Amino acid sequence: MYPVKVGKLSVFVVFLLMAVLLAGCNDTGPKAAAVKAPPPEPTVYKLRLAQTWAENAPIFAETTANLAQMVNQLSDGQLQIEVVSANQHKKPFGVFDMVKSGEYDMGHSASYYWKDVDFNMLFFTTVPFGMLPQEQYAWFYHGGGLELTQKVYSKHNMLSFPGGNTGNQMGGWFRKEINTLEDLKGLRMRVPGFAGAVLQELGVEPINLPPGELYQAMDEGRIDALEWVGPSLDLGMRFHEIARFYYTGWHEPATELQFLINQDSWKRLPERLQKVLQIAMRTSAYDMYIQSTYESAQNWSTIQVEYPGVQIRTFSPEILQALYDVTEEQLKARANEDPLAREVLDSQSRFLWKARRWTRISDQAYLNSHPRGGLRK
Ligand code: CA
Repeated sequence: MYPVKVGKLSVFVVFLLMAVLLAGCNDTGPKAAAVKAPPPEPTVYKLRLAQTWAENAPIFAETTANLAQMVNQLSDGQLQIEVVSANQHKKPFGVFDMVKSGEYDMGHSASYYWKDVDFNMLFFTTVPFGMLPQEQYAWFYHGGGLELTQKVYSKHNMLSFPGGNTGNQMGGWFRKEINTLEDLKGLRMRVPGFAGAVLQELGVEPINLPPGELYQAMDEGRIDALEWVGPSLDLGMRFHEIARFYYTGWHEPATELQFLINQDSWKRLPERLQKVLQIAMRTSAYDMYIQSTYESAQNWSTIQVEYPGVQIRTFSPEILQALYDVTEEQLKARANEDPLAREVLDSQSRFLWKARRWTRISDQAYLNSHPRGGLRK
């Protein structure tokens, strides 16, 4: 971050006017002393933000563009964010290190990408069988989640804030129907992160491939299944052309991206601009969540019309129970190894216990009791 002095021209004009006024005035004594000194020069703060995504990435890159525009407008141009995309900095998964070192002031990425650096970072994106977006936002902003995020990130000289939610993700595209646990054995599936580790316990071979290779790998049969996001982003990837079964989700119920900030860059900002940045981050994150909801609704409708052969499936109770058991087992093992992991998981579990009971008698009961399954004519 580098402060930039502005307003030299306006200061010059003020001096010029003063000179003209003074030159036209014979009495240069008390009147000259009454002329006020010019106000201190305003300072513009510029932050550089590295994002994991390409500059044309739908929804994700629109979120950082939204943030940059918002801080500029809310601060009257005093705070500016320059977004640098993965196609420029070439290190999509180097965002963590680049913000930590101060090479960039900010980052836009996903906390679960850093689970190999610090496993606790996984908990601030989404957890299989965990909270839904509205429950998770409640936990972040009112249930102590944000404080726990900073407890984990302060060790790395950074702050992390919610950076936009994809909504509940789909379980993935499968070329063959999955009916029993036996059907999972030997299945080659693109599924990264913690969900991949859970599926591996059940015999799946998790494979991680760059997004650009997914369509071809599936089309050529090098993988049998893949998960990406949901209709909001899956439609553009054209997976519906090559896989027939679209499974409902269990593994990423509330994927929240993140805004990373280097602590030194944060401290250099005046308190007022820190507030502006916080408001803009919170608003652009929420914008991403509702944009994702909008795009998923539109795109699922398109897929149904253009590809009526695509079929929705939900994993069998037997498979879901096994996925749940492995997830619980692995999370418990983490909690036993690390007191901070236990603190975060306990906080999430305690809140989910209450929040889900409310969701069940509010949203879930409403959908179940609606005569048309929630649809209006
Ligand atoms: Ca995903």
